[in-house]
Amino acid sequence: MAIKKKMCVNHPDRPAIGECVITARPICSECTTRYEGVNYSKEGLEILRRRRAAEARRSSGGERLAAALLALGSPLFLFLLYLFYLLSFEAVIDLLQLEWRDVFQGL
Ligand SMILES: [Zn+2]
Repeated sequence: MAIKKKMCVNHPDRPAIGECVITARPICSECTTRYEGVNYSKEGLEILRRRRAAEARRSSGGERLAAALLALGSPLFLFLLYLFYLLSFEAVIDLLQLEWRDVFQGL
């Protein structure tokens, strides 16, 4: 019984050396691109490239959202800081007034 060798999908006359990890098609050495330690066919690499590009778009969209939130949030944050500053300043004045009153009452 003859063992049927897998042939390259692009070159039916050439034996396949492996399969593309994306398309799972048998490919010969010429059609194989080794990338990040695994074999890809030309189509597989293209699919990978598109996936990566889509991921990059998603993550940059997330960064844009974060930047927008930061742009909206930082004036709010500064305003809160200002409020906190005013409140703490007022508290200090209150404290001082209380102390001054105590000082005058003591006289
Ligand atoms: Zn081939």
